[in-house]
Amino acid sequence: MSMADPDLARIVSDIAEEMSARTDRGQVATYIPELANVDPARFGMALIDLDGHTHVGGDADMPFSIQSISKVFTLTLALGRVGDRLWRKVGREPSGNPFNSIVQLEREMGVPRNPFINAGAIAVTDVILSGRQPRETLGEILRFLQFVAEDETIFIDQEVAASEKRTGFRNAALANYMKSFGVLENPVDFTLGVYFHHCAIAMSCRQLARAGLFLANNGRNPVNGHSVISAERARRINALMLTCGHYDGSGEFAYRVGLPGKSGVGGGILAVAPGLASVAVWAPGLDEAGNSHLGRIALEELARRTGWSIFGH
Ligand code: GLU
Repeated sequence: MSMADPDLARIVSDIAEEMSARTDRGQVATYIPELANVDPARFGMALIDLDGHTHVGGDADMPFSIQSISKVFTLTLALGRVGDRLWRKVGREPSGNPFNSIVQLEREMGVPRNPFINAGAIAVTDVILSGRQPRETLGEILRFLQFVAEDETIFIDQEVAASEKRTGFRNAALANYMKSFGVLENPVDFTLGVYFHHCAIAMSCRQLARAGLFLANNGRNPVNGHSVISAERARRINALMLTCGHYDGSGEFAYRVGLPGKSGVGGGILAVAPGLASVAVWAPGLDEAGNSHLGRIALEELARRTGWSIFGH
């Protein structure tokens, strides 16, 4: 991708202003009370380019529940731990099904389609947990996020985690089902506990954009020079984000935005413009596929105004 030198500061602040004024906001996730209580009028956006220049708009510094966006970082850690052996436990194909589907798992003998649907993310969490205690594992995940975002204030929202645990019957069903096929190695309660807690990590758009910067720069943080993962691995994580990062709306996101991205039911989306920038948006209202309604529109506008797309200009 080439840099057309757009006025990024202007573009980000214009988009944030336009999104804040819109009244079509989608529906806030209601499956746990802690998410249902979030103000749907929020909108935040942060963009960091490879020189570390940061452009923000709206509620860019307000922490929100990153939910499934955490799965990008647990995938990164699991690949670091076991390398390509991970792919014995989880596939790499889009699922074409809702994120918490059980039917598909039965048909495919307990091996989840990809690391970003719930079953796949639970299997990835189980891999990171092996050989460790849940508390240690959670600490490792949190520290990894603090390291890539260069921000030690990032925290786990314990209320969200507890609420998720109280109501996570379907995730428990997925985990038990995988356990019956031997896909999970650890006690189901341990794996689920770590999974619920990493989904409950709270971050702002600014922190999230910074955390994703290594994916935009071949696995290396361009600002401090830290190598996080290899260029090959970064490319592959981006490919999975593009094909599987938006549940059953992944095709639509690729079509409209044209950048790898991962969404969460908290209304956040992390998008990666390889060679250019890392972008995070947050708008709590979701569309029917469970993706942030205004978040997706904001990224579509960003892609249109900058000409950024991995598919051409
Ligand atoms: N913790 C959520 C769940 O497993 C993640 C939902 C999401 O963002 O997809 O239900």
